[in-house]
Amino acid sequence: MKPSFYDLNYPDLETIINTNHFNSSVARILFNWHYKKKQNTACPDISKSALAFFQQNFDFSLPEIDTVYESEKDRTVKFLFKLQDNHKVETVLIPFNNKYSICLSSQVGCAMNCSFCFTGEQGLKRNLTTSEIMGQFLQAWRWLASNRAGEERILNIVFMGQGEPLHNFDAVKKACEIFLSQYGTSIGVQKITISTAGYIPGLKRWSEEIPRVNLALSLHSPFAEKRNQLIPINKKYPLEDVLTYIDQVPLNKKQFITYEYILIKDFNDSANDAEKLGNLLAGKSAYINIIPFNPYPGSRYQRPDLDTVENFKAVLDTFKIPTLIRGVKGDDVLAACGQLNSKN
Ligand code: SAH
Repeated sequence: MKPSFYDLNYPDLETIINTNHFNSSVARILFNWHYKKKQNTACPDISKSALAFFQQNFDFSLPEIDTVYESEKDRTVKFLFKLQDNHKVETVLIPFNNKYSICLSSQVGCAMNCSFCFTGEQGLKRNLTTSEIMGQFLQAWRWLASNRAGEERILNIVFMGQGEPLHNFDAVKKACEIFLSQYGTSIGVQKITISTAGYIPGLKRWSEEIPRVNLALSLHSPFAEKRNQLIPINKKYPLEDVLTYIDQVPLNKKQFITYEYILIKDFNDSANDAEKLGNLLAGKSAYINIIPFNPYPGSRYQRPDLDTVENFKAVLDTFKIPTLIRGVKGDDVLAACGQLNSKN
């Protein structure tokens, strides 16, 4: 099988072009055509010989859109993609003011096995390739261009779909490099966020190789016993070690770490939980994102009522940590956090 064009970052493409003695402008023109203009047809602006070379040696196909689910409530769109080996993954477009954030998947299934997450029930099938990650973005953009013309603006990229992105670091890093490339989609580094359950080997690589890409940590409980129940890898990589590691990574002036906290009824939603969390994070460059639990078929936990959610936030406010309650979008099509499962 031919390698995919969409697995190449800009330096990879330049190397191929130099080795094969094509005009050096070909790299810029191809990236512009496929990533800025998001065209999937043969690029008309390079020499016939360069075009023939790329068509013979590279695969330009994108993951096929199997099903599109459009929320009637809030215009969230969920895509089920079919990959070349028939595995499936989901991607979500989350609207804000006629613009979108895209929630990308990084793996088919996930190895983390968190007790509150629908994806975890699938187990890990395999890592996605860079081209399958880029393909989710390009196909979602193209769908917007043909179905919601004028709205094809995807301004934020979050690796919060299926999978643990830091457990598939190489492919995720290369996708970030293409997103960031001025010749590619040219997305600002502060607009990309990688969310992790706290996988320390991946955190090390993030801090050494792409530290300007934003990080979100799924914290979910400041207490070890509870966090062990929610996120089994906490036994191997305890929260204390994760936080100690993150704390010593130098951040840019405007850079924050986002701490995600799923609020689960009668489990981690008390004032005592909030206080312990506040103590843990006070004084850090932190944002807290409270995510009221999203139920899915067969889930064992429940969402707390609105009062409980607001009381929890009120405690955190006393610690002067900026806290946001993440609104529920797309839950009518099972597109909210933790509801992605592409087994069927
Ligand atoms: N593996 C990564 C990214 C995927 S999950 C991580 O763990 O961060 C993206 C976010 O959705 C995480 O914060 C995750 O904990 C949260 N999430 C998972 N299941 C959820 C559910 N049922 N309800 C609410 N949030 C959930």
